[in-house]
Formats: sequence, C-alpha cells, structure tokens
Amino acid sequence: MTVNRRFLLARRPVGTPVPDDFALVEQPVPTPPAGGFVVRNCYASLDPAQRGWMDDAPSYMPPIPLGDPVRATTIGVVAASDTPDFAVGDWVMGLNGLEDYSVNQTGGFTMKVDTALVDSPSRFLSAMGAVGLTAYFGLTDVAKPQPGETLLVSGAAGAVGSAVGQIGKIMGCRVIGIAGGAEKCRRLTEDYGFDVAIDYKGKSVGQLAAEIRAAAPDGADVVFENVGGTVMEAELLNLAKKARIVLCGLISEYNSPEKVGVRNLWQVLAQQATIYGYLIMDYAPRFAEGGAVMADWMAQGRLRIDEDVQVGLENAYDAFMRLFSGANTGKLVLKIADGL
Ligand code: NDP
Repeated sequence: MTVNRRFLLARRPVGTPVPDDFALVEQPVPTPPAGGFVVRNCYASLDPAQRGWMDDAPSYMPPIPLGDPVRATTIGVVAASDTPDFAVGDWVMGLNGLEDYSVNQTGGFTMKVDTALVDSPSRFLSAMGAVGLTAYFGLTDVAKPQPGETLLVSGAAGAVGSAVGQIGKIMGCRVIGIAGGAEKCRRLTEDYGFDVAIDYKGKSVGQLAAEIRAAAPDGADVVFENVGGTVMEAELLNLAKKARIVLCGLISEYNSPEKVGVRNLWQVLAQQATIYGYLIMDYAPRFAEGGAVMADWMAQGRLRIDEDVQVGLENAYDAFMRLFSGANTGKLVLKIADGL
C-alpha cells in the first residue's frame, strides 16, 4: 500500500460526537524515523475512554491534538524498521491511532506479542488486553471480594462488565448485573453465568433501586461501576456496610456537556463505604501475569470473552458510536487489515 488512511479528530465534539467532528484523509505511508519503526495496524480497540480524550479537559492523558488521528490501542505488524529491536513482520501492540500505519519510536509503549498463543490477534485487545485485565485487576487487586459476598456490576453485558461478572463467579461471589434491554439481560444469566440480571432501561432511580434491593436484600459488598448517572444512584441506595466501590467508568456522562454527576453520595458515608478511583494503566507491568490467568480460565471454559468486530477504517465513526447506543455485543474492535 502507498496510502495511509487516517481518521483524524477535526474538532472537539460537543456532547455526542457527530461525523463532522472527524475527517478521513489519505496521506503517504510514513517511513521509519531514525531508530524507530512503522506499524501496519490490523485491529484497533474502540473504547469509551477515547471519547474523554477528545475533550480539552484535565485527565490522566493529554487531549488528542486536533488534526491528529484518534488515539487508539492497536495490534499490528511491523512494516518497516530502523531498529534491531523490531523486525519487519513482528506483531506488536501499542498506543497508536485509527490509521493504516503508525510511526513508533523504540522505548515507547509498544511491545511485541506472540500471536501463536491466540486464535485471533484481536484477543490482545480484549481478553488479554487492557479491557479484560481491567476486569481482572479491578476485582482481584482492588475490590478483593470474598467468597459469598455480593458483587453488583453495571454495564454488565459490555466488555469489562461481562468479564467482571464471570471473574466474580470464579471468586465465589453472588453476582448481579445491570444492563440495557432484555436480550442483554438474557446473555448475562445464560451466557455469562450471572445470578441475577436487571434491565435498567426506562426505569426511575426508585424502581431500579427496588429491583436491586429485591435481588440483594443485605446490599452489595462490592460495586463495580462502569456507568454512573442514575444507575449508580440506584446502586448507592443498596450498599452493604463497608462496601467497596470500584469506580472504573462513568459512560453515561461521557457525552453529557454538563457532566451532572451522581446523587446519593451520602450513602457512601452512611454505609462507611470506600470508592476506589481505578485506572488499568497502573497495572501495565503485570499484564503478562494477568493475561496468563485469563488465558487459562478461557482454556478451561470458565471465562467467555465476546468480541464485536466491525470492519474498515472508513466505518470508524459508526463503529465507535456503537459504544454509546449500546449496540456492541462484547469488546468492540475495528478490523483495519489482515496483515502486511
Ligand atoms: P462496553 O463494552 O461496556 O460498551 C459500552 C456499554 O455501555 C454499552 O454497550 C451500553 O450498554 C453502556 N452504555 C452506553 N451509554 C450508556 C448510558 N448513557 N447509560 C448507561 N449505559 C450506557 O465498554 P467497555 O467495557 O470498554 O467499558 C465499560 C466502562 O469501563 C466504561 O465506562 C469505560 O470508560 C470503563 N473502562 C475503564 C478503564 C479503567 O482503567 N478505569 C479501562 C477500560 C474501560 P447497555 O446496552 O447495557 O446500556
């Protein structure tokens, strides 16, 4: 290929992103810088976090500069190299962009991966990538649930949430999941083995809180929060004493310009609960350790990680928006190419 298609951030979205916030452009394929290499991106991870990176607001990462490709974790193949550390043909995972080819410097975040270990390279963006490991470390290292405890998960049918629920079962918890719609709730109990599934769609905070109470009369010992907003407000009304809340994500706020926040915080105080602000980035040095456990559980049939693979860089906008309409069924991934 001689053309590098790049999906650029053209302007900062206000509220829900629209197609004109982005531009798909064609530029020449880059050559490796001195000591660096060029990656042919094959799969890109589409994550709710990317919406936050589009805003010019303080966060754990700088905003995506306007005119740059939308930042994304990708897995791909080294296409050209000026370093002995990365050979043409090596499979690598790194923080790149929604584009055909990305320039990398040695010593950055990009690491080699062994695709012989997996049925598809995209696995390094799901089960064995940051998303699967978000579930793994958030439970095993942050919440540390004990057998018999009640675990309440929001965004439960999504990539992180479905893994959290299944790992919770492996750790001996009673697991309650909250998701949008009857089909997602069916998947929670039938495909992922949750004990109870609750549909939040069209319900008031009071109604949702009552359904959680019916499922967990003694309250939730651990809340794994992916959603925020009214879902979290209902959860906060159902905390067990000394509950641990893993604050992993607040997707209901990401497209809200007002960022209204969550009510019922008084319950954190009343139940002497603890909220943990949690970022998977902290666990990067332990990815191999967590990935090995996840791979083991999958091989034993104890953990099911679904992927929602959308195809084509030209479909990046529509694919990304699946996260916010709830259309994605499993870890959302964009396939860009098969290989070199
Ligand atoms: P998912 O696969 O869960 O996809 C997003 C899901 O969120 C949708 O399918 C939809 O499910 C739900 N959703 C979207 N909009 C709303 C809304 N307004 N109100 C309620 N639910 C909504 O994505 P991920 O698993 O990748 O991410 C889940 C969460 O984890 C996100 O908040 C993300 O930011 C966070 N995260 C945090 C990390 C960390 O290091 N802290 C790392 C990775 C992810 P439904 O149909 O059920 O509504």
